[in-house]
Amino acid sequence: MSRTLVLNRSFRAVAVADWQRALTLVYTGLAEALDEELTPYDFSAWVAASSGWVEAPAGFVRSTRLKLAVPEVIRLVRYDRVPHREVAFTRHNVFARDRHRCAYCGAKKPTDELDLDHVVPKSRGGPHEWTNVVTSCRPCNLKKADKLPSEAGMPLKVRPVKPRWTLIGALVPHPRRDIPSSWRRLLASADA
Ligand SMILES: [Zn+2]
Repeated sequence: MSRTLVLNRSFRAVAVADWQRALTLVYTGLAEALDEELTPYDFSAWVAASSGWVEAPAGFVRSTRLKLAVPEVIRLVRYDRVPHREVAFTRHNVFARDRHRCAYCGAKKPTDELDLDHVVPKSRGGPHEWTNVVTSCRPCNLKKADKLPSEAGMPLKVRPVKPRWTLIGALVPHPRRDIPSSWRRLLASADA
């Protein structure tokens, strides 16, 4: 799906957002959409303008009532960085982070066969947070019990981290050929 280049208030490229995130930023007033001439639009102006377009380089989002172009470029108007979005620490999100795989044996299981495991057990002061909680299958969870991975002989296959939804720094790794031509002149002035 198409991606949107995010500029800060000084028109410097700071991030890349997926189209949902880009439109959300415009919808909530945190960013304005820019057309090819870098004319700014707020959300309602963007809806009005783009509904009449036949083509849009990044495509359209359509519903029964609405046809909305995905902006190729948006500009943050309130902040100079994409606002940080905290990822809720929930069972569901831990499973999603670990792609429903047991952190000890690597088995992929349906949600109802997975548990959360505290790497450093709670009984030994291990905190209930992203970096100490992993997805575990039932057999591994039982086997590990109140032991550390080293004591149980069950090394972690993944290092538990707090997931980040922010897209800062996403520009650099993109291969050049993936960069839409409309971004190039903007990237030329960016110090990404
Ligand atoms: Zn397992």
